[in-house]
Amino acid sequence: MGTAHRQNAGGNCSPDRTFYEYQFSREVCFRVKQELEAAGFTVFIDLPDNIILGTPTEELRKRCRIVNGLCDQFGKHNCLYLSIHVNAAGSGQQWRTAGGWSVYTSPGTTQADRLATSLYEAARLSLADYARQFEENKRKGLYDHKQRPFRTDYLDGDPDQEARFYVLVHTKCPAALTENLFQDNQADVAYLISPQGLESIVRLHTRGVLGYFSFNGRSAT
Ligand SMILES: [Zn+2]
Repeated sequence: MGTAHRQNAGGNCSPDRTFYEYQFSREVCFRVKQELEAAGFTVFIDLPDNIILGTPTEELRKRCRIVNGLCDQFGKHNCLYLSIHVNAAGSGQQWRTAGGWSVYTSPGTTQADRLATSLYEAARLSLADYARQFEENKRKGLYDHKQRPFRTDYLDGDPDQEARFYVLVHTKCPAALTENLFQDNQADVAYLISPQGLESIVRLHTRGVLGYFSFNGRSAT
């Protein structure tokens, strides 16, 4: 499992500074680890501590070295990598009107697409309450008219969006990056900081992984 950035990576918090991506990501990683371990998986968190490890690129390389070392140890087909993030529409100085959940894989059709589809299906279930509130919040102007609770891209036939994010391209096992709502949207942050919001985000990742491995009880990194 991959944590998002470091505290001093710049921006990456809500405009009112009540919500920090690095903190939320770690909280989700620790909770998902607990749940998956209870289901019999082995789970590692790449950079659990909020410490500085060289430049951002050096940090990404370090993450991939950790993941690929585990792939060599356990077999890449028995592993997967999840990078857990929170999206932003602007630089974090003011509230914006973009919102919604999304999942990314590297370009092309790979095993990661199955993982992303499993996460997407889990999100539709786990974030059903969020999706219901979404339309009401849209009427209040908290989301602009283009926004949808699940941000999808069906151009390649599946719901994930594709991007050459470093950790998606340089890991040997299937990898997916989730953007768990927007830290510069007021309605999204209210959901994320609520106990049931955190619970739903944790559950969607757990369900997504279980769905991907079809309850085979293998290792997950
Ligand atoms: Zn991020």
